[in-house]
Amino acid sequence: GLSAESYRRQHEISVTGDNVPQPFSSFQVTGFPSEILREVQHAGFSAPTPIQAQSWPIALQGRDIVAIAKTGSGKTLGYLIPGFIHLKQRRNNPRLGPTVLVLAPTRELATQIQDEAVKFGRSSKISCTCLYGGAPKGPQLKDLDRGVDVVVATPGRLNDILEMRKISLHQVSYLVLDEADRMLDMGFEPQIRKIVKEVPSRRQTLMYTATWPKEVRRIAADLLVNPAQVNIGNVDE
Ligand code: ADP
Ligand code: MG
Repeated sequence: GLSAESYRRQHEISVTGDNVPQPFSSFQVTGFPSEILREVQHAGFSAPTPIQAQSWPIALQGRDIVAIAKTGSGKTLGYLIPGFIHLKQRRNNPRLGPTVLVLAPTRELATQIQDEAVKFGRSSKISCTCLYGGAPKGPQLKDLDRGVDVVVATPGRLNDILEMRKISLHQVSYLVLDEADRMLDMGFEPQIRKIVKEVPSRRQTLMYTATWPKEVRRIAADLLVNPAQVNIGNVDE
């Protein structure tokens, strides 16, 4: 409708894909569970950021998404909150493996995502662990043994743990590639492809990137199905 168009124009949101739903211009219209709305209020957030406003309704439809927005735009909660809601609907046994898998390029980024997942998922009783290199595997394997709903991982370490057969990805139905452009710049494409082979093809795939060069477009074309694409501001190629 007209209001969706003016909201998009005002926030420099452009969308491509069939039947992209209207953005959520406020938290009230999201329909998020009350425990999640409480966390958001507790954090002091007054409104969704543009990437959240447009990617939440798409992600909640169960649809694949490519989101292109610069650093600091709130992409993490853009995929985490719909991931939490996805989890509530599945009610999988976390001891059989995670339901939500987030791949990120570095230990630092993976840890930041984990912190955000713990903070915003606590009241929803969501368990989460982080797998990254440059640290002993023991404690990471112990967390996996106890069972977790969400795994945030760098591709290198996750691939090592997969090769050791210490994790199963057969329950993953919500897959996020965060900072996809950086992961490819760092040479993680082979590991990403090996990991994705272990994830069932009946899944929702969400790709977040700051830039949209041809390498990222190619992997998006291979891994996503009929995605809605959301761009915030000008896109660097
Ligand atoms: P990006 O991944 O796009 O670089 P982040 O997800 O790391 O951005 O978010 C940047 C900062 O903005 C974080 O501190 C996060 O907690 C905060 N933030 C997220 N959503 C909102 C919001 N709706 N309103 C205000 N701040 C927010
Ligand atoms: Mg980020």
